[in-house]
Amino acid sequence: MTTPNYPQNLQLYINGAWHGKEGRETIPVINPATGEALADLPLATKADLDAALEAANKGFYKWRAVDVNERGAKLHKVADLIRERTDHIAALLTMEQGKPIAEAKGEVASCAGTFDYFAEEAKRIYGRVLMRPTGQRAMVLKQPVGPVAAFSPWNFPVSLMSKKMAAALAAGCSIIAKPPEETPASTIAIMQCVVDAGIPGDAAQLVYGVPDMVSRHLIASPTIRKISFTGSVPVGKHLLKLCADGVKRTTMELGGHAPVLIFDDCDLDRAITMASMTKFRNAGQICISPTRFYVQEGIYDAFAKGFAERTAQIKVGNGLDIDNAMGPLANSRRPDAIEALVEDARTKGANILTGGERGNSSGTNDGNFYKPTIIKDVPMDADIMSNEPFGPVALIRPFKTFDEAIEQANRLPFGLAGYAFTENGRQANMVADALEVGMVGLNSFVISTADAPFGGVKESGFGSEGGPEGLESYLVTKAVHQY
Ligand code: NAD
Repeated sequence: MTTPNYPQNLQLYINGAWHGKEGRETIPVINPATGEALADLPLATKADLDAALEAANKGFYKWRAVDVNERGAKLHKVADLIRERTDHIAALLTMEQGKPIAEAKGEVASCAGTFDYFAEEAKRIYGRVLMRPTGQRAMVLKQPVGPVAAFSPWNFPVSLMSKKMAAALAAGCSIIAKPPEETPASTIAIMQCVVDAGIPGDAAQLVYGVPDMVSRHLIASPTIRKISFTGSVPVGKHLLKLCADGVKRTTMELGGHAPVLIFDDCDLDRAITMASMTKFRNAGQICISPTRFYVQEGIYDAFAKGFAERTAQIKVGNGLDIDNAMGPLANSRRPDAIEALVEDARTKGANILTGGERGNSSGTNDGNFYKPTIIKDVPMDADIMSNEPFGPVALIRPFKTFDEAIEQANRLPFGLAGYAFTENGRQANMVADALEVGMVGLNSFVISTADAPFGGVKESGFGSEGGPEGLESYLVTKAVHQY
């Protein structure tokens, strides 16, 4: 695989045309593995957003009228083009986001899978007929909600934008996507696939900008009927307040702090292997990343020792080098945040088994590297036990009883993902019932698939992406009574 040159003409896609730097402010895009500037990204002006809103309004009425089979065929075409361009898109993703190239290819593949899934699901938008006296009927119709504004983050730039775009387009909505400014080239490359597949330029548009200005402007517009946001809890709450004014529908996929319950009767080697493979994916910058490991007393030391030994072997460096299993953190805010949380835990008496400092395996300190870190005996008053680290840090604490483990798992205001490792089927079912989360993994961390709902409860948000529920979230219900 050859590494492409990073594109120098990053552009917005508004009303069927690409728009570059002319007349717009720009910000630099930084390679997180090296700290070097890759290119300048133009930021949307208010006039750009108004043009996008006008197009989205017109585009919605045209796109919703397109037959579902044709909509589905175009979405399949997007998936085909993404697959053809995988190497190119994945290399851009690694250069601007940092994740290892194998993970970047996996993300691009899942993005294509999402377009394929919703291409099919578009054909399964059903209503109901309610029977009435002879000659009369009532009908329940499902219709597209209207133009959508979608805000997606930098940890999975390609797949998270795709979940929103594929589902909205499948439902018959138009969409203005604002992916993260940190990682634009990969999302522009996906948008090019959408354009090349023949999706109309007023049905799907792409903008970057100052996030607060863009979200305020789009949410305030009566054109926008639905907001979909993936990101942090504070920003989610802020956007919800803005949405309240216009009573806009929302899907909020916010942060987590996922508990993992490791019971004495589990397959210990499987639990250790899967934990060390999963925790450091995307350098731990995953909202469903397993983070708080509660381990039953009988296997506490063995689990911690095995997990730390495997973790210490993870090679960290530039994601373009296929020998590296973990890349840098995506931006310079992340190592600062993680360093503060780890130092607080260390000061309060936690036992750092491996990692606990910046740097990569070659011993250099360029880029935003932080070493894979395992912390044992973390005191309950350490900030990291309550604040999502969103980085390569696993926390381990012991528990005695099932009830104690569940109480610990549920103690935070977040409820996105939770996991358990046990060979006792009844105990597994009891965990699944008791965890206050939107997604549970039993003897597995694989919980994000195109055909399953993805979303949380409590302050982790509401609504689902993926599965039939993901399509449903872009539909509204209308009852028609005929006498
Ligand atoms: P942040 O809270 O500033 O931003 C989070 C995301 O929201 C970013 O993608 C950002 O571009 C976007 N954003 C920020 N302000 C916005 C606004 N006014 N309108 C629209 N979008 C806005 O934090 P950050 O430093 O980028 O990320 C740190 C935290 O965010 C992490 O600790 C993690 O908890 C959370 N996060 C969660 C996810 C997720 O998948 N749920 C993804 C990325 C970040």
